[in-house]
Amino acid sequence: MGRWYSKTNSHLKDEIKHTVLPRIERALSDPVDTECPTNCLCHNVDNKRVAELVNQFSDDTRWTDAVYVLECFPRGVTQKVVREEFRLQQDAPWVDQAQSKNKLLYVGVSQNVVNRMLEHVIAKGAGAHFTQIFPATRLLSIEWYPSKSLAYRAEPITAQVLEEGTSDQIYVSQPG
Ligand SMILES: [Zn+2]
Repeated sequence: MGRWYSKTNSHLKDEIKHTVLPRIERALSDPVDTECPTNCLCHNVDNKRVAELVNQFSDDTRWTDAVYVLECFPRGVTQKVVREEFRLQQDAPWVDQAQSKNKLLYVGVSQNVVNRMLEHVIAKGAGAHFTQIFPATRLLSIEWYPSKSLAYRAEPITAQVLEEGTSDQIYVSQPG
């Protein structure tokens, strides 16, 4: 797989279009018959549970650099609450943008995806601002990369592919 190292952004984008995008579309079109999806990230979450969820996406590589996609809960929250939570002087525009959509996706990158997942769902403050406001409910995808630099390049491209490829009613959080 040495070719991975020399992949251009446009090759990466093609790969992601053919792997991640259909996986996300399938997951989002799955009817969820209970209030909470099976194997959710919002109830009874511990290390073992997260490791099992991550393992569903393991492949025959031993690569640890991951780009992951979470579905997040589109809860209603005011700008005042957000400003107080993060001690902001101004409104956070992404809160309103996210709340104007039905479904929310968060794209992240990590070299230890199990720990990162636990930070998102358990450790208040250690996760991302986005998942503190809109809690992660499902792990929808993990793609593994052979280097940190490639994973960091793949993260914004994944967000871009999802934004372009999914319906207008889906909000994709912007990395960084
Ligand atoms: Zn749940």
